[in-house]
Amino acid sequence: MLSGCLERYNTEWVKIVTKVKITTRTIKGQTGYDVAVLDPAAAVEDYLTALDWVIAEAGLFRARTPGRTTCHGCDRCCAERLPLTWIDYLNLRTAVGLNTGLETFLATYGHVAVDGPAVDITLAADAGGRCCFLDPERKACRVYPARPLTCRTFICSPSTARARRLRATLVNRGEDELVRQWLLEARHRGKPPLGHEAYRPRPRLGDWPPTPFSGRSHYREVLLRSVCPPALWQDLTDGT
Ligand code: SF4
Repeated sequence: MLSGCLERYNTEWVKIVTKVKITTRTIKGQTGYDVAVLDPAAAVEDYLTALDWVIAEAGLFRARTPGRTTCHGCDRCCAERLPLTWIDYLNLRTAVGLNTGLETFLATYGHVAVDGPAVDITLAADAGGRCCFLDPERKACRVYPARPLTCRTFICSPSTARARRLRATLVNRGEDELVRQWLLEARHRGKPPLGHEAYRPRPRLGDWPPTPFSGRSHYREVLLRSVCPPALWQDLTDGT
């Protein structure tokens, strides 16, 4: 069972899920949030859980549509770039009932773009640029419990620099592992990896070393400390 607390101090909400603290604060005149890490053993799942609770309980969102008071029925974030992590892939594969390899999953639900040595793996989009998992009529996510890290951490409100850096770092390192697995699978098959678009492709497995996501299958297994560069870790744990 999760231990945690949500308390209101003056005009600020502070959410502490044992190891991660999310604090609402005013940023450029709007309600936004900051994140701090209280325990070196905090995992990515602790951060995600803290965000979930604050979004739900403190109403931490800045509705872009006038009159809207919740995220339900709003699909604006589903047209953003949607990079996938290795763990996102594992969760989504289960959600859609696929028991095949990464390349088969990406052929239907992903988009792989290769530019020289760089590889970007994102969710596939429909003709209108919206995520392939979006139900356009209900404007609802068809895989909500398994939605990717990018979606779980998208908050339609401002955040501090360290909160933005943490989110970007987790998404990027998780995607690095997915690219590594994509290259490993191709090597195992003895064939070049398949992508959807490529410009002078020359991805090399040697450019994608193991990451803190390697061998992990759940966000509770990935420690924030293992993913964050030293400067970011210092920033996240400073003054907490
Ligand atoms: S996975 Fe769900 S929440 Fe994420 S972009 Fe797609 S439809 Fe939206």
